[in-house]
Amino acid sequence: RAKVLGRSTYVGFTQAMNQETRQRVDLETQLRGAAAAGQLQLLYQPKVSLATGAIVGCEALLRWHHPLLGTVSPARFIPVAEDSGLIVPISDWVLRTACLQARAWADAGLQRTTVAVNISARQLLQQDLAAWTLGMLQETGLAPGLLELELTESLIAQDVEKMIATFERLKQVGVRLSIDDFGTGYSSLSYLKHFRVDTLKIDQSFVRNMLTQSEDETIVRAVIALAHNLKFKVIAEGVETAEHCQLLRAHGCDEIQGYYFGKPVPAAEFEALLRSGKCLSLAEEASPVHALDDES
Ligand code: C2E
Ligand code: MG
Ligand code: MG
Ligand code: MG
Repeated sequence: RAKVLGRSTYVGFTQAMNQETRQRVDLETQLRGAAAAGQLQLLYQPKVSLATGAIVGCEALLRWHHPLLGTVSPARFIPVAEDSGLIVPISDWVLRTACLQARAWADAGLQRTTVAVNISARQLLQQDLAAWTLGMLQETGLAPGLLELELTESLIAQDVEKMIATFERLKQVGVRLSIDDFGTGYSSLSYLKHFRVDTLKIDQSFVRNMLTQSEDETIVRAVIALAHNLKFKVIAEGVETAEHCQLLRAHGCDEIQGYYFGKPVPAAEFEALLRSGKCLSLAEEASPVHALDDES
């Protein structure tokens, strides 16, 4: 009996393991064909100036629409893509699509809007960031000043000398660089001396708790001061309410991004947003957002 039980436990365990492995392999197999099958999509989320209220840029955020699984979150499939090496072709698709889109908006004479693309640290073990980016700018004909790369602290920590050289090459042609999720990595602040990035993005965890936890508000204010003293711009992500917005503005934050002004939306919807001239209302009593040419 013990033998049977032990055995069935063992079988149950391997089954569970197999299931997890299988799911991962399945996800990987399906991800392999996702771009070709037209299942990948970029959404664009506005970045808004707190000085003027205008949209100044957007962040491209990847979605995978699987016929059976539905929309898979990047938090779930980016790690699979990184482990399997698929991150290289997928990132290629992302960067090309974002550059072509930004070029189309510029050609259509819409207001100047930078497009930011997230860069995976793991991807860079496999390719040269500067060569790849410059090649894509050439291929798509996008003005380098309209492209922004969002990098994480872990990426910078990889190979400092090489990354400094990479940043210099990108800066030379005018590509914008920002540090994403700032304050959540483990790297020393000293890297900020050597990396001439344009923008620090305050992580949304600090913004979310800023109104209720004084420590988070202190961190937000400190990051804004740090950024400005180093001559960087600073943007807050995860801005969900008018209160967040007002407090960030009071502390001198330059830009915001979050559900308060706008969620990530498909390209056509983002373009409609640009054409509508929608701005952030900066009035004192400041309730949400209004469209300048709203019909209502
Ligand atoms: P991230 O770059 O920090 O992007 C911000 C995330 O916060 C996005 O989640 C966005 O939808 C979400 N967000 C924006 N505003 C708000 C808000 O007001 N409240 C809340 N609660 N969330 C907000 P998403 O799109 O699920 O992406 C998650 C992460 O996946 C991104 O974090 C980024 O690290 C990664 N990712 C997304 N697209 C790509 C991509 O094309 N390539 C790579 N390598 N990573 C990507
Ligand atoms: Mg980002
Ligand atoms: Mg972030
Ligand atoms: Mg994040």
